[in-house]
Amino acid sequence: MLTDMEIARAATLRPIAQIAAAAGIPADALVPYGKYKAKIDFDFIRDVQARPDGALVLVTGISPTAAGEGKTTTTIGLGDALNALGTRSMICLREPSLGPCFGMKGGATGGGRAQVAPMDEINLHFTGDFHAITSANNLLAAMIDNHLYWGNATQLDPRRITWRRALDMNDRALRSIVNGLGGTTSGPPREDGFDITVASEVMAVFCLSRDLDDLQARLGGVIIGSRRDGSFVYARDIKAHGAMAALLRDALMPNLVQTLEGSPALVHGGPFANIAHGCNSVLATRLGLKLADIVVTEAGFGADLGGEKFLDIKCRFAGLAPACAVVVATVRALKMHGGVQKSELSREDVGAVTRGLDNLDRHVENLRKFGLPVIVALNRFTSDTDAEIAAVRDAMARQGVEVCLCTHWSDGAAGAADLAQAVRKLADQKAGDFKPLYPDDMPLIDKIRVIAREIYRARDIDVPATVAQRLASYEKAGFGRAPVCIAKTQYSFSADPTRLGAPEGHVLPIRQVRMSAGAGFVVAIAGDIMTMPGLPRVPSAESITLTDRGEITGLF
Ligand code: ADP
Ligand code: MG
Repeated sequence: MLTDMEIARAATLRPIAQIAAAAGIPADALVPYGKYKAKIDFDFIRDVQARPDGALVLVTGISPTAAGEGKTTTTIGLGDALNALGTRSMICLREPSLGPCFGMKGGATGGGRAQVAPMDEINLHFTGDFHAITSANNLLAAMIDNHLYWGNATQLDPRRITWRRALDMNDRALRSIVNGLGGTTSGPPREDGFDITVASEVMAVFCLSRDLDDLQARLGGVIIGSRRDGSFVYARDIKAHGAMAALLRDALMPNLVQTLEGSPALVHGGPFANIAHGCNSVLATRLGLKLADIVVTEAGFGADLGGEKFLDIKCRFAGLAPACAVVVATVRALKMHGGVQKSELSREDVGAVTRGLDNLDRHVENLRKFGLPVIVALNRFTSDTDAEIAAVRDAMARQGVEVCLCTHWSDGAAGAADLAQAVRKLADQKAGDFKPLYPDDMPLIDKIRVIAREIYRARDIDVPATVAQRLASYEKAGFGRAPVCIAKTQYSFSADPTRLGAPEGHVLPIRQVRMSAGAGFVVAIAGDIMTMPGLPRVPSAESITLTDRGEITGLF
């Protein structure tokens, strides 16, 4: 069996200008990065704004397991299949982070015959967007310490600085540090730390900005810390936002690439879905809607995390209303939710599949609360048996949910033709009636509770007094209308990653809250979750090498 990398390398890619032309993007709107990648300039984006929007399709999934589900692969397969049926489609994905590439999860360019290319370039530096985001984040950090050094005119309390440094790498040694050591010319020393770039507020601001003006304004509104009296100090107070926006200007142009079957894909921005809001940039999605009849986009991890945040944060801010949601499931992952160990997944076990369906059921039920029609995409693995597949179909039919069996991983577009037909039907019928889960004017603590109860099915939330006080201070400062971005393990509806399936009645502990005032949301950290991940015992970086021909091997 060929690896994803080998399949990708065997494909013949077309020059990016040809892909652009077929998608209705003229050559003079392109800023090429090599032969197969290009950014799309702001003049063109402005020019197409008057056009009507196509339909938006959200691809999300069941709670992820070690078995792997294939949301990115399915997003790409569906986009390819829609194009093959003659529907102009655009795929919108996040850019991969180096953290998972070198850690455990691997890259984020799909798999098998459903990939975006060139996979090695997209997975590693791509067009440099994450470097720009990291630089903008760290420019602000450097300006904060410089501000303290030169007299601290804003009276920022060094103990109350909330802005942290960022790096696009899993580096647990940098989670908590002391900076400013080395005497008067380097100090004053203070506690500090690093988050992974994909969890940073600059990443969120980048992904939620509608244009360059909005980007600069949002950066100015970033909170860097507070004074002794508790009042906030903002990035604009130390005049950092202009230079940050300048660093991000080129990065904010969406990136165009192609799938192995020649469909256009916009790969832009990339917040994680567990510790951040989990979907690609608003600019890319809105551009896609101007260019295509159907835009297919992925939200990370399960429908409870990336899916909920896509709907309650991104769609709310950008005025988007998806036509439907596709929930990706695999027989293998359902078996894991049904209690089977990873090593036993290849043995037929209809009972375990049936037990695991509780997880899928709940995600479907949750998405319907947003007014969205739901289709299940069953991403077929070679070990799946007919009886196991029938068990999924029968159970979902009882809930009135269509299950489309998908084989795009092995067959390309043809393998997702049924799914494409089903999605097209829902988009044509305009069957969706999207509404966010909670209104803007609900108190922040109640927003957290509503998500916990309605989506995670918790009995309640546990909010320490210090956290409640912070939420009250955000409301007092005028941020009460913000939506909430929950940071939480992706593996369980509860805060305990070992509780698979569909646990309920738990209490969700809210350990900490942070105001991302530039992004426009409150981050609520539920349970033990790190905003700077570590590498596993055997990181995948150990298997990545260059061949004597200069080709990269070992990326997956
Ligand atoms: P997600 O977006 O849900 O994290 P991906 O689409 O990135 O998942 O897929 C994760 C991995 O699983 C990829 O390496 C991909 O090649 C593999 N994969 C996806 N679908 C299949 C399948 N049907 N059979 C075998 N491997 C698959
Ligand atoms: Mg993915």
